[in-house]
Amino acid sequence: MDDTLYGTRDKSGHWKPNRWIKRAPVFVWPIQPKPFLRWLFSYLWPYNALYFAIALLVWFYLTPPLETMQEFGFGWILLILLRNTALVLLVYGGSHAVFYIQRRQRTDFKYNAKWPDTDNSMFLFGSQTAENIFWAMCSGVPVFTAYEVLTWWMFANAYIPHFDFMDRPVFFVTVLLLVPLWRELHFYLIHRLIHLGPLYEIVHKVHHNNVNPGPWSGLSMHTLEHIVFFSAVLIFYVVPSQPLLIMFVLIHLIVGPARGHLGFDAIAVSDDKILVNDNYYHYLHHKYFEVNYGERLIPFDEWLGTAHDGSPEADEAMFRRLKAKKNFVRGVSH
Ligand SMILES: [Zn+2]
Ligand SMILES: [Zn+2]
Repeated sequence: MDDTLYGTRDKSGHWKPNRWIKRAPVFVWPIQPKPFLRWLFSYLWPYNALYFAIALLVWFYLTPPLETMQEFGFGWILLILLRNTALVLLVYGGSHAVFYIQRRQRTDFKYNAKWPDTDNSMFLFGSQTAENIFWAMCSGVPVFTAYEVLTWWMFANAYIPHFDFMDRPVFFVTVLLLVPLWRELHFYLIHRLIHLGPLYEIVHKVHHNNVNPGPWSGLSMHTLEHIVFFSAVLIFYVVPSQPLLIMFVLIHLIVGPARGHLGFDAIAVSDDKILVNDNYYHYLHHKYFEVNYGERLIPFDEWLGTAHDGSPEADEAMFRRLKAKKNFVRGVSH
């Protein structure tokens, strides 16, 4: 697959897509019906449909019955922990194996031509991937499992608001469609917060060790960041829920970051077919730190002047903004 048909690589090995990074045609005026419908299809297919399919599978075949989860018990909690361990190994380990060990498409569509560091004292055990796996498995999976266990226990005991699908199917579909939007809003708010002052150093720096992210980097976070990141499921402690909605938000949280940090713009499906993965926007956040705090469904970055689309103009705007910020801080401290 020739990635030069889709983008360009500069002298220092950074590849960028030719297509223009655009915000979703949702918060736009006047409304744009055709682009909106096209966008809606890409919103649902394939990734959100895939996450929902996994949620169905996990809920019906790999989750204990609600009656069992009414009381905390070692057996069912261990089962959920093992299932989550297996899921993360499958999704993150699988994509790492294909793209970074087997290197099935070499560096085609890879944003950074370099492979993750294997001999860098900045990382635990001297290796980016080893550090990433450590945080993902030893912190990410247990924290995620704790949220899941608590949520099922609350739900099984009717301590959180709930409803039956048959009673309110339209409400179910509406909430289902709003889950990715909620994820994005929650992510923006917590992410913006943990970039502030000492919070960055304590909570978020571990994640930003990954200037050149791979799939495992997606869950490579400090435990405190895992605690805030997975807290998106708490929305269902307020909004009435149903098991599949809870499972959908959980799957979104645990599986989604693999895609968002793949490091490749597209997956070469065959010699002439690609599946655009589109994680360039967040990749630029890892590359430049102070841009693209959110995603593009709700264009917070555009509204607040922190968007970067990969263009030289955006580079210039970013440097101007950072310089002004530095001068301001210097002026205040004098
Ligand atoms: Zn960040
Ligand atoms: Zn990230």
